[in-house]
Amino acid sequence: MNVTEQLSVTASENPHKAAYVFQDKETSYMELEGAVTKFASQLQKLGYKKGDHIALVLGNSPYYVISLYGALRIGAVVIPINSLYTPSELTFILNNGDVKGVITMDVLLKKFEAIADQVPGIEHYIACESGEEVSFEGSSLSAKLKPFTQLIQVGSLELDAPTMDDEDTAIILYTSGTTGKPKGAMLSHKNIYSNAKDTADYLQISGDDRVIAALPMFHVFCLTVALNAPLMNGGTILIMPKFSPQEVFRVTTEHQATVFAGVPTMYNYLLQSAADSKADFSGIRICISGGASMPVALLKEFEKAFKVKVSEGYGLSEASPVTCFNPLDQPRKPGSIGKSIMNVENKVVDELGEEVPAGEVGELIVRGPNVMKGYYKLDEETASTLKDGWLFTGDMARMGEEGYFYIVDRKKDMILVGGYNVYPREVEEILYDHPAVAEAAVIGSPYPETGESVLAFVVTKDPALDEAILLEFCRGHLAKYKVPAKIEFMDELPKNTTGKILRKNLGEQVAQ
Ligand code: AMP
Repeated sequence: MNVTEQLSVTASENPHKAAYVFQDKETSYMELEGAVTKFASQLQKLGYKKGDHIALVLGNSPYYVISLYGALRIGAVVIPINSLYTPSELTFILNNGDVKGVITMDVLLKKFEAIADQVPGIEHYIACESGEEVSFEGSSLSAKLKPFTQLIQVGSLELDAPTMDDEDTAIILYTSGTTGKPKGAMLSHKNIYSNAKDTADYLQISGDDRVIAALPMFHVFCLTVALNAPLMNGGTILIMPKFSPQEVFRVTTEHQATVFAGVPTMYNYLLQSAADSKADFSGIRICISGGASMPVALLKEFEKAFKVKVSEGYGLSEASPVTCFNPLDQPRKPGSIGKSIMNVENKVVDELGEEVPAGEVGELIVRGPNVMKGYYKLDEETASTLKDGWLFTGDMARMGEEGYFYIVDRKKDMILVGGYNVYPREVEEILYDHPAVAEAAVIGSPYPETGESVLAFVVTKDPALDEAILLEFCRGHLAKYKVPAKIEFMDELPKNTTGKILRKNLGEQVAQ
């Protein structure tokens, strides 16, 4: 079974149930399944076949869902790409990923016109209508342009789908770029299907759930938790093109959301809007956090303000992505990513790959049906990341009591101050504990006497907060070498489009 075959099964069992809601309009499973089949039949007609690479450069919309399942249905390999990428980032992925067809929005075609001669391998640009007036007249792409809606209109409900193997690559995910040059993680049908199923089972996502999809669909967190998991169980996705607290509150109430999935910065924005008269999460059964560490202070304040349970989990693109979550039937532990989900093993190891005793810090490694096949065309990187079936995550962690794991930080973000290890996260946690701190990020900066020093960047809720007060607070909670040498106040911290804070960009700013 794979996710697109599963959709056909779910649709035959729940034909009239809402598969998704977009702009307040419900679309049934039968309608979605019909659109997917028709779109797939037209992809075949255009000459696409099993193994061809198709890029999705789309925002959150029904187009995304139909394109994803349609391309998978003919055995094509889908490459989701962030539509905010610059022309040079797009060029890199389209060429590196050997992309043959691009599915995008009409308003984005200008970007592709600008790079067309650098990506000669692209045979078609399938354009989804944004509703804005867009003229293709005189476009250098016109010979390769196909309007999405037209394809669906003439598509057939008869499809000769190829046989697919569990190990066939389904999706190549170019990792978010918070860690240098993007690498394409190859995820098989088995990887994608098993992780959606195991995550859904662990978080008890069922046909009764209505899951808010506010995270970007090109990101694996949304793909698995808010798209594949609900759709394989007959649930409903509430598609949100763009995150905003007000829209989350509106959709939650008007469309009876039961699950919200977000990164910590989203929880922070929601918390800051908690006083909004429409901020009502009483229908939400669980809030899911992942993608970055959830500061303990934020988790506790959020749960108190919204009277809802937050379950933090952990994952990475290379693991499709989920490996751990706080279980629903046992107490969730603030600051912990929870326990291994079913079928997935997590282990903490030392430099030699030997498991360390509980409580000790080491690298987190992962094994299971969700672990990628490897990086596309990068054998050396694959060999250093996948060893004996274990995925080396590059994240430092420790295992606490009863199998709960705690992420300490990324291995490469560790700061060395005069020979002592400082993990940015532990300093950030203290900063978040101060009631006037809205956001915090910590990095290391070269410093002659100690090798590196700790630098903190803070967004404050209270203009009266200054560096001296916050440093005094840190001194009360941190060993001397961990106390920031300097605290810089900012209006906003740099974030990627998923909402993760980009420490790398702060480092570049400091270097400049
Ligand atoms: P990506 O491949 O873009 O999903 O990024 C995966 C990375 O996000 C992981 O390797 C971690 O560094 C980070 N990450 C994900 N979830 C958490 C979490 N709950 N706590 C800390 N870091 C996390």
